[in-house]
Amino acid sequence: MKKLLFGLLIPFFAFAYELKDLAGGINPSSDSSFINLRKTFIRTDSKTHYLRKDAAYALEKMSAAFDSYIKELNSERNKNNQKEVSIKITVISSTRTYDDQARIWNSKWNGAYSKEKNLYKRGINILDFSSMPGTSRHHWGTDFDINSLNNTFFESGDGQILYTWLVVNAARFGFAQPYTSGRSAGYQEEKWHWSYLPLSKKFIKEWNERYSSKKDFYILKKFSGSELFIDKAEEYVNTISPVCL
Ligand SMILES: [Zn+2]
Repeated sequence: MKKLLFGLLIPFFAFAYELKDLAGGINPSSDSSFINLRKTFIRTDSKTHYLRKDAAYALEKMSAAFDSYIKELNSERNKNNQKEVSIKITVISSTRTYDDQARIWNSKWNGAYSKEKNLYKRGINILDFSSMPGTSRHHWGTDFDINSLNNTFFESGDGQILYTWLVVNAARFGFAQPYTSGRSAGYQEEKWHWSYLPLSKKFIKEWNERYSSKKDFYILKKFSGSELFIDKAEEYVNTISPVCL
């Protein structure tokens, strides 16, 4: 009897997360695994932001460490009569639901990208920087964007100070940049997008296991042009920095 029960229970416990967690069916404001970043010391823009608690607490620690670094840097600069640096890690995008991502996708499809009449090319252009709904790392509550959605911001001045510090220090707090330069395919480089690996590595593993069966990924079929790009989902999800896999 015990053996039989165990056999029955295994399939239910094979996945740590449910499909809704993997593909954006979550509701972060009523899900106790998430925290509103206003309840933390993390700086954000004026929008409301949620992350999974472990990711938020790690980001809180990393932000404080960066603040200390800037403080030290400024005391050095003061001694040398140099201008002070004024930058903080600032979250500008965080957890997104399937519907949030569908809104982004469809507004690009029908708006800025609609000039491209070849629908396949239109979608490929959107995929430079935006995910198909159901395939975004932002669904997981482990990933977020900081400061500016423009790589050039991170290539000079205060933005470069921040990025250089992150490249050296983020791993100490569990974070990494998934969309690095020099990958052979997938999204373009995103210096603003960071991921909390202790959680997101589990998410990507389960996303792949779940997606390979495709049976319950019906959720991928509800956005403009989805039938054209659905076969690209795995490539975009997995063409990331190797440290994130
Ligand atoms: Zn992002």
